[in-house]
Amino acid sequence: MPRSSRRISSPPVAAIEIDDFSFAYARSAQDTLAIPTMKIPAKKNTLIFGDSGCGKSTLLSLIAGVLTGHRGNLSVLGVDYAGMSAPQHDLFRAKNIGVIFQQFNLISYLTVIENILLGLKLAGKTADYPRIESILSHLQIDAFRNTRARFLSHGQQQRVAAARALAARNSLILADEPTSALDDTNSRLFLDLLFREAAANETTVVVVSHDLRYKNRFDHQIDLTRVNRAARGAA
Ligand code: ADP
Ligand code: MG
Repeated sequence: MPRSSRRISSPPVAAIEIDDFSFAYARSAQDTLAIPTMKIPAKKNTLIFGDSGCGKSTLLSLIAGVLTGHRGNLSVLGVDYAGMSAPQHDLFRAKNIGVIFQQFNLISYLTVIENILLGLKLAGKTADYPRIESILSHLQIDAFRNTRARFLSHGQQQRVAAARALAARNSLILADEPTSALDDTNSRLFLDLLFREAAANETTVVVVSHDLRYKNRFDHQIDLTRVNRAARGAA
């Protein structure tokens, strides 16, 4: 092939890189995670699925930096997590990562809108009110904008956590079982909005779930039961 016609394509950039990685909970004799290698592509939607107990939430918490103490390499958005302190993790997460976790991390006595504005403030980002209203209405929680988080149902709180993550236009969104508390219609609305906003903002989305209803809507799927050598039944 003549040199001039050769296509030069750079390798796909990974948002998350894991190599020779393991993690054990304190006082646990066994590793919960042992992953030889895993790459999560940037600007794509990835689903990490697997049986209950295979380590999905543990892995996501380590990627978020809310859980620390792994061995081996874990790099997120090009930053090596080795040796990072808790305040460094908090700052990095506030600036770069939107988390939609099972425990939600909403402030219960603040209203929906106050929770979203606080998230933006912590990230040092300005509030785009029309955008926030549009996200709230797409997730069908606009009627609750002035309701305190503690008065919302499980599913509504989960959608507020999603709205907060989307409003901040983060480079990376991590979601733990985001559709588990939602019915079919709200699950579809949630994923429609998540994927649309992610595409518009070139956001990397990582969802962990045992819910395989929407598996084929993701660009990339990883079976953690197979990849995690510490999980029962791992290949
Ligand atoms: P999944 O999200 O895939 O259901 P988890 O990451 O929650 O799995 O759990 C993986 C394993 O780690 C399970 O065996 C679970 O019991 C254990 N585990 C989870 N959290 C803790 C903890 N805080 N301390 C000790 N073990 C834990
Ligand atoms: Mg879990």
